[in-house]
Formats: sequence, structure tokens, C-alpha cells
Amino acid sequence: MSKIAIIGAGFVGSTAAYALVLQGIAGAIALIDVNKQKAEGEALDLEHSMPYLKRTIFTFGDDYALCEDADIVVITAGFAQKQAETRLQLAARNAVLFAEMIPKIVQYAPKTIILVVTNPVDILTALTIKYSGFPKERVFGTGTTLDTARFRFLLGEQFHINPKSIHTFILGEHGDSEFPVLSTANTAGLKLAYLDDYAQEKINESFLRTKNAAYEIISKKGATYYAIGVVISRICRSILEDQHEVMPVSTWIDNYYDVCNLCLSTPCVIGRNGIERKIQLPLNESEIAALRHSGAVLKEILDHIIQ
Ligand code: NAD
Repeated sequence: MSKIAIIGAGFVGSTAAYALVLQGIAGAIALIDVNKQKAEGEALDLEHSMPYLKRTIFTFGDDYALCEDADIVVITAGFAQKQAETRLQLAARNAVLFAEMIPKIVQYAPKTIILVVTNPVDILTALTIKYSGFPKERVFGTGTTLDTARFRFLLGEQFHINPKSIHTFILGEHGDSEFPVLSTANTAGLKLAYLDDYAQEKINESFLRTKNAAYEIISKKGATYYAIGVVISRICRSILEDQHEVMPVSTWIDNYYDVCNLCLSTPCVIGRNGIERKIQLPLNESEIAALRHSGAVLKEILDHIIQ
């Protein structure tokens, strides 16, 4: 029976559990939170949907032993960014938490795949690789999968095409230095630039809205969790069912257009072993420059945290 342990039963963790349950993706879900009551409350609420859905067995609590036998451990636990706090400060606070948490996960689930969601996700994915000592294909972050979904949705609206049929990626940092890959953006193999209603300003607007989506949603409702919940469930499904879907997740980069020794998002094939392969996209010059800039931004933060 497949098992997913979710650490952090807050907005994102509990919504991911809900998305997983609705699709019947895992045989068992463990909800782990320092706030034991919260984990219990979420598990009870989810359990009551069982008469109408595919069976999932729930466990909950504050004990990392609940990670035992998990095929995937999803990490959503952590501090949220305070007002006026820099990403470096947030990274430093969550790094302390991860230094404590990761060895416990490794102790109880030495063969698991770890999916990092907590922000700043690229930095924390790199730290999780370091603290776990796991092979790099078994630790990755949701990266720009959410941003890519947002961008495809907005482009779909713009061209009146289902976003499933819009093929493009946001790559780099999950954050301010992310960039869209427009040089290969297409529908039905036709570059978007050849569509008769293509307008560069509108594409730029959609990208800006994508980049600022989290700020916009947080200012209106306090947190973002539905779309990321679905993203987590799709990544978990691709792993457990060995679907080999291509998604822009955050992984350790050895050399991607000379960017190296950090984590950021590039398109990857996701299957039962975690990262099955990486796709090297033919980026144009401005995209390569944007990727290198994103790498430089992340490297600076990572170097500060690791030293
Ligand atoms: P939240 O505050 O609702 O939930 C966080 C939970 O973690 C809380 O329930 C808290 O009790 C728990 N927690 C804290 N320390 C813990 C520990 N040591 N062990 C176990 N549990 C612990 O926050 P949220 O809205 O669910 O967001 C969670 C994280 O996900 C944040 O870092 C947020 O920025 C991030 N996020 C990432 C993306 C993405 O695309 N990567 C999207 C949305 C949110």
C-alpha cells in the first residue's frame, strides 16, 4: 500500500491531503504537525469523507515515527514570511527548523522521496539534500510548478484555449527572479507568437500577474493553498504511478547553462525513482541570462545560509 507523510497540517498540508484523498492517490496518509490537535482535527475531518471516496487510511500526530514506510514525505511545515522580513531572514529561520526535522525523517523513512514545499523552496530543497544525504534524485521541491500552472491558466484565458493545451514553463527561482520560457511556448506545436491574436504586452502582463499571484492572493485571503494542493497531489501521483510527467520542479543543478551547485526549477521527468531525467531546453540568449541571474540570486542566499 502506498503511503504519503505530510509534515505540516496547515493550509497547504491539509489541502494537499484533501486533493490526494479526492483523487484516491495514496493508500495511507500521515499528517504530522507540532500542533498535534491541528493534525488530529484535519485527519478526522478528512476521514469522514471515506464513505464516498476510495479508501485512505489516516494517521496523525506530532511524532516523526509516523513517517515510517512512507513512499513520499511532503514537507509543508515552517514559518511564513513576516512583514518586512527578507527572503534571507526567512530562509535562515526555516533552515534551523529543517536542520532538526530532516534527520528525523531520514531516521524513520531512509528510502523515501522527499518533496519540499516550504518557502523559500529552492533554498530549503538544497538544504534538505545536504541534511538528508539522500541521492539527489530523491529530494526535490515543487519549484515553479505552481507558477507555471498560473501562467498557463492566464495564457489560456488570453487566447481562449484550454490551459492544458498551452505548453510553456516558468523556470528558475520560485520567486522574484523566475522567468517564462517564451521561445518554445506553443499550442499544437505552433509557437504562440504565430497566433493571430498574439500581443507581447499581454503576455508580459500575464507573466507579471503570475509573478505577483502569491502576493495578490495573500493580500485578499491570507494564504494560497488550493492550486499548490493540486500541484502536490499531481507530483505525488506521477511518483507513485510512475507516470513520467514532465514538471518544472526544483532539483540540484550540476550544470544547466553553467549554473551549478544549487537548486532551481528546470523541466524534469517524475517517476517512481523521483527525478527520472532532466530536459535540457534550447533557451534563447535572454532566457539563459535570466536563468543565470536566478542562479546568482539563489547562490547568494544559499552561501549565506550554509557558511
Ligand atoms: P501554515 O502556517 O498554515 O502551516 C504550517 C504548519 O507547519 C503549521 O500547522 C505549523 O504548526 C506546522 N509546523 C511548524 N513547525 C513544525 C515542525 N517542526 N514540525 C511539524 N509541523 C510544524 O502555513 P501554510 O499556508 O500551510 O504554508 C506552509 C508553507 O508552504 C509556507 O512556507 C508557504 O510559504 C509554503 N507555500 C509554498 C508554495 C510553493 O509553491 N512552494 C505555495 C504555497 C505555500
